[in-house]
Amino acid sequence: MPMKSINTVTGSVSADKLGTTLMHEHLLIGLAGWELDTKAPRFERKTALKTAVDRLKELKDLGLGTFVDPCPNDIGRDVNFMAEVGYASGVNVVCSTGLYKEDLGNTAYFKHRSLEEISDILVSEIKDGVGETGIKAGLIKCATGKDHITEYEQKCLRAAARAAKKTGTPITTHTEDGTMGREQLNIFAEEGVDLAHVIIGHSCGSSDLKYHTDLLDRGCYLGFDRFGLDLVHPDRLRLAALIGLVGIGFEKQLVLSHDSVACWLGREMPELDPKTQKAVRNWHPAHIFKNILPALKEAGVGDQKINSMLVDNPRRFFET
Ligand SMILES: [Zn+2]
Repeated sequence: MPMKSINTVTGSVSADKLGTTLMHEHLLIGLAGWELDTKAPRFERKTALKTAVDRLKELKDLGLGTFVDPCPNDIGRDVNFMAEVGYASGVNVVCSTGLYKEDLGNTAYFKHRSLEEISDILVSEIKDGVGETGIKAGLIKCATGKDHITEYEQKCLRAAARAAKKTGTPITTHTEDGTMGREQLNIFAEEGVDLAHVIIGHSCGSSDLKYHTDLLDRGCYLGFDRFGLDLVHPDRLRLAALIGLVGIGFEKQLVLSHDSVACWLGREMPELDPKTQKAVRNWHPAHIFKNILPALKEAGVGDQKINSMLVDNPRRFFET
């Protein structure tokens, strides 16, 4: 059977060519409303492109083949920017289609759209491309807030599920503080999605191993995808849970990343500046290669299991 081809921002790539993959990173983020801040410094596209390309070149030198950017449609997604970075760096970049959680997304317009309309938008961005760009999404994104799924988020999750089923494209999610993973899976299961095509993102935001194993037993992947964001949850707890889960044989269902952001639209984010803030000093997409993999090895996690999380699982997630 021919290898399934995956949509990247620079064209389709066979799943076996993805290589080492970071499953959740961002090139550019603009929180809803940034463009209304008339006093914000003008967006310097050229400077931003250089920052992003330099970052991906550094990662390429560390062995990275693919950079997955699950930026939803409504927080500054710019697929042309991603494509320029993909071409200039030689790293595969996969972009997403979907909508963010209610409290941080750009929701007013989409609240007026039906579930079917939203699902059709996602399908079209996967099949035909984003707008007139011809750049096709390779992944579906959806998101929920802490301890509760709003009506709007539920609509977006169901639209994501229906688009996934129509196109065979996998889903990655945002969860807040390691909550609502079970409920996300319930919605996907109700819609008939194969849970082996789902990553419950930011699961490393919980230290509850019962939560983790409950989700894993249902066949999905868990994103340990916020390494370096000590501000949100300490790395040593993310690492302890990861080592524990790998230690009991779940390495085939775990994927790794940082949720890093190369460039912000609008004003700087001083609280998220790795140069000045201790709680984000390791929040850079090279952190796993430089610090987390050595820590895993120190804990006795072998190369084969590391390869599962960085290479085999991303390939299987996209190809099946
Ligand atoms: Zn993210």
